[in-house]
Amino acid sequence: MINMCSDNPKNTEIKPEYASFEDAVEFHGHVCLGLSSGYQVAIAAMKALGVQRPKDEELVAIAETDACGVDAIQVVTGCTAGKGNLIIHDYGKHAFTFYCRESNKAVRAITCLEEFMQQNPEMDELRPKVFSGKATEEERTRFYEMTDQVSKAILEAPPEKVVKLEFVQMEPPKKARIFTSIPCGCCGEMVADAKTREHEGKQICMPCFLKLNK
Ligand SMILES: [Zn+2]
Ligand SMILES: [Zn+2]
Repeated sequence: MINMCSDNPKNTEIKPEYASFEDAVEFHGHVCLGLSSGYQVAIAAMKALGVQRPKDEELVAIAETDACGVDAIQVVTGCTAGKGNLIIHDYGKHAFTFYCRESNKAVRAITCLEEFMQQNPEMDELRPKVFSGKATEEERTRFYEMTDQVSKAILEAPPEKVVKLEFVQMEPPKKARIFTSIPCGCCGEMVADAKTREHEGKQICMPCFLKLNK
């Protein structure tokens, strides 16, 4: 018998290596520059480290922003807030470090979008108007049309035009800890013991602590 499909002999379905940009848009809720550049960052970093989407914690992402791009990182890399392998230090910089526990390698990626922005000075002009609610309907439409265009240009650009990537040395980040829960000595709700504060000899939760120490 002649195998007609020699590249894929078992005829198994070939799964795409990475989540699609559409998946990221669905998760994030809209198309924007942060999302499309974050999507490029995630894929460039995974390729550089030679990793696939992790099921648990072997890949750790450290984001220096809490803005849009983080959502693309979560969808593509599988580093998520809930699993504890996404750490956010919001320094307001579109920079992301990825650490692979298996190889002990890390890359830091920053996005460079100046070139894309320079080609669209009208966007800079309209942005404050749109976000302060002072833009006309026409200006709003124009602004979002351009956002779509620039996001698409970022997504389709060669990665090296969008992402600057370098290998860095770093200590392994701490693994997500598993806490024991205890009832708060004030409100009675269960709380991770490591997150409690002491107040008059009782372990109490942070919201209660803040209320009592106003
Ligand atoms: Zn966004
Ligand atoms: Zn409490």
